[in-house]
Amino acid sequence: MNKIEEMKKIRDEILVLKGSPLYEYRVMNNFLPVIGEGSHDAKMMFVGEAPGRNEAKTGRPFCGAAGKVLDQLLEHINVDRKSVYVTNIVKDRPPENRDPTVMEIEVYGPFLNRQIEIIKPRVIVALGRYAMGYIMKKFELDLALEPISKAHGKSYSTQIVWKDSSRKPIDLDIVVQYHPCVAVYNPNNLPNLKKDFEILKTY
Ligand code: URA
Repeated sequence: MNKIEEMKKIRDEILVLKGSPLYEYRVMNNFLPVIGEGSHDAKMMFVGEAPGRNEAKTGRPFCGAAGKVLDQLLEHINVDRKSVYVTNIVKDRPPENRDPTVMEIEVYGPFLNRQIEIIKPRVIVALGRYAMGYIMKKFELDLALEPISKAHGKSYSTQIVWKDSSRKPIDLDIVVQYHPCVAVYNPNNLPNLKKDFEILKTY
């Protein structure tokens, strides 16, 4: 299977994911699952928390207010959004934008893991504390885990052997950023977010 087919398979499985605690809410509201968007060969992969209302209406990640902030941050470092891949841990919208539950993260996490294997990014940007916790644990960086107030704007290096490649360990960096919504709630945070994003220019 090529990358497009593998990604479509993930979408098809999530569409009928009746075991998800968010499935009924999606169907009742005519929402769409939000799988991800961008280049399947991206060097940089952005992982958020879960779709909001605009995202669930359109099926596109970060297309609402937080997405506008993300666009500004990418523009600040001269990165074309089409060249990166943007997704979330949880692929369906939790009611009233509440935080995702442990169970929801368990249900959707394996799909994100497959997406990471398909894209094989050089750097994963964790947007917010949920993505930070999930990604750092997944790559066995638990010991380096700090509160996001300390971790934001930092990069954590590891090595990975991708499943379907020659067993050579490849460098992978995890970069932690505050969730873009912090600049939606308080626009005074935007300059600090922009400064934190400058670390991504290295890639
Ligand atoms: N917040 C997220 O974490 N993801 C989105 O796609 C939109 C808002």
